[in-house]
Amino acid sequence: MGKIVVMEELLSNKIAAGEVVERPASVVKELVENAIDAESTSIEIMLQEAGLAEIQVTDNGKGMDEEDALRSFSRHATSKIMTEHDLFRIRTLGFRGEALASIASVSKILLWTSNGENIGTKVELEGGKIQSCTPAPIRRGTDIVVKQLFFNTPARLKYLKTIQTELGHTIDLINRLALSFPKIAFKLSHNDQTILQTSGRGDLRQVLASIYGVSNARKMIKFEAESSDFKIYGYGTLPEITRASKNYMTILVNGRWVKHYGLNNAIVEAYHTLLPIGRYPIVVLNIETDPMLTDVNVHPAKHQVRLSKEKELMELVKKTIRSVMHRSQQPPEIKEKP
Ligand code: ADP
Ligand code: MG
Repeated sequence: MGKIVVMEELLSNKIAAGEVVERPASVVKELVENAIDAESTSIEIMLQEAGLAEIQVTDNGKGMDEEDALRSFSRHATSKIMTEHDLFRIRTLGFRGEALASIASVSKILLWTSNGENIGTKVELEGGKIQSCTPAPIRRGTDIVVKQLFFNTPARLKYLKTIQTELGHTIDLINRLALSFPKIAFKLSHNDQTILQTSGRGDLRQVLASIYGVSNARKMIKFEAESSDFKIYGYGTLPEITRASKNYMTILVNGRWVKHYGLNNAIVEAYHTLLPIGRYPIVVLNIETDPMLTDVNVHPAKHQVRLSKEKELMELVKKTIRSVMHRSQQPPEIKEKP
């Protein structure tokens, strides 16, 4: 008799969680991205003990009916893509249909959700198993609480760093999401203390001020340019403001934060002789392009992107930022508006 069996779903979810759910910040990322995909305009993130004890994300998005609320925790359950055709035209942050199933398999979850048409649903899960599903009144939107992350995967729990380090990962994440979506009001709190709050008024410079401080934001110059395939825009600090790490350069492709070595280099080269060696600017670079020219299906965490016409894009970035920065160095041409 053959020895091969197809794993039961709970086990395969737990294995997938190993890739998607590395630490509390990865849970926050998936939950907040879901809130963004649900067209929320206000998203609140509340952490207890950096999320190790509890992560709560509350949104005012589309919500779900009871059937979807239950189905959302199944593996490969998504409302975002239906066919292979859609895979190459992704406009949402999620599409793999894996996050909720993976997170649920390694934690205890409470979900309240309503699409505004009926009273609302409350679902309770433990280690991926549904414990209860009952009607519950809630306004339109979704409220999800993830408790005791990794309670059933002790090895993963042991690997986690200090509260401060884990919290740092989530703060970096929310900063990047706030920069990507200035029209969404974000609020992040830790042990009931507010850490970051944005207004959602759509003003990127205001978001920069909330994150990097008003005086740094005032010393950032706007740049924008367009080619046949790309539209780029953003802000970069004047060369007098520098940082010792490249982490202050935020690259967003169609609203998604990505790590991109080549684009990081293009920015550094744009500043080239203006910065001391080993110092980097604060930059936020938005790139808009046809989703057909991008491939985000590189890794489950979706931090990497493959771009067609990469060289053309890097040249555009370098040229555009270089010209505004060099102009800023030639007095008395530009005076920053207050
Ligand atoms: P994906 O985001 O890749 O589709 P997820 O497992 O993260 O997969 O979510 C599964 C589905 O649950 C989503 O496609 C969406 O329909 C629904 N969902 C999850 N979170 C929310 C939310 N905050 N508001 C509305 N719908 C949600
Ligand atoms: Mg998702």
